[in-house]
Amino acid sequence: MSMSLTELSPPLLKRIAEEAISARAVAHASLSDDAHAALRQKAIDLLRSRNAVLVAHYYVDSELQELAEETQGCVADSLEMARFGLAHTAQTIVVAGVRFMGETAKILSPEKRVLVVDSAAECSLDLGCPAETFSAFCDQHPDRTVVVYANTSAEVKARADWVVTSSIALDLIRDLSDRGEKIIWAPDRYLGDYVRRETGADILLWQGSCIVHEEFKADTLLDLKQRHPEARILVHPESPPSVIELADVVGSTSQLIHASQELDAPLFIVATEEGILHKMRQGAPLKKFVAAPTAGEGATCESCAHCPWMKMNDLQRLVDVLESFENEVILDETVRARAALPISRMIEYAGQRVKRA
Ligand code: SF4
Repeated sequence: MSMSLTELSPPLLKRIAEEAISARAVAHASLSDDAHAALRQKAIDLLRSRNAVLVAHYYVDSELQELAEETQGCVADSLEMARFGLAHTAQTIVVAGVRFMGETAKILSPEKRVLVVDSAAECSLDLGCPAETFSAFCDQHPDRTVVVYANTSAEVKARADWVVTSSIALDLIRDLSDRGEKIIWAPDRYLGDYVRRETGADILLWQGSCIVHEEFKADTLLDLKQRHPEARILVHPESPPSVIELADVVGSTSQLIHASQELDAPLFIVATEEGILHKMRQGAPLKKFVAAPTAGEGATCESCAHCPWMKMNDLQRLVDVLESFENEVILDETVRARAALPISRMIEYAGQRVKRA
């Protein structure tokens, strides 16, 4: 009997993704330096000839981040990626990230062709919040405002009143709570719990989690902090509360990058996906950055802070999709138009917040 992706547990999904990556890594390892350089040049030429722009997430491989910047694309968080694609003149947007990021780009730019580098690149938060089950859950609590995180499918966004990113979550929930609104938060339970503790809002949590962030371990992090008292700890709020408690700064990917440049410390221990370290090292080359530990006693790796789905994005797949135009994101127009409403509401809210600041 075959199982759908959403029926598989996150650890099993992670293993399947890891195996797919290893197979690709073997194929890549066989490329000579010259062949690799030729492949890179081919990607650059194709982006130009196809009138395409590459938008990459902070968590993808550093090679794709550099390629995006070199070809006047962007490296950003999911919302900024979608905004950048909307504003750009290119007719094709190529998303190096995971599926929901391609969908968000398509929701905002329906007239453009949106391609994802690997259509099998998922996200455990998205997979853990199937639209039908979530919709039924919302129907049971009709008195609550539905707030969903960006890491959700187009269908789940279409069921929401608001979409949020981690950078505006606290402000928005505080404002909604001040207006007397009770909230359903989905899908990340750790981020939702953090927002609930910080704002005191009445929040009903969906029980999703990120397989990467929930692996960070407070005891080994504390041990590292004691051995390096000069270090500052940067934590993404998708991490468990015991890890958040040890943070000097808790914030979204963009906020953590900003903190890594602003804080005066020689060493940073970073509890989020390790791909972000590339951007941090670019912005502060004299500082040292290490991934926070994920392993408990007896484990074989000290930090496995990498997302297997993000690592499915590679140069060969990028060239393949640019040549074939496969992996195009296609959305039902009714769903797309409905999902655009809470995203536009969030963009407008974020804009007003910047003006107020
Ligand atoms: S790091 Fe976590 S939240 Fe980000 S795409 Fe991977 S599974 Fe999803």
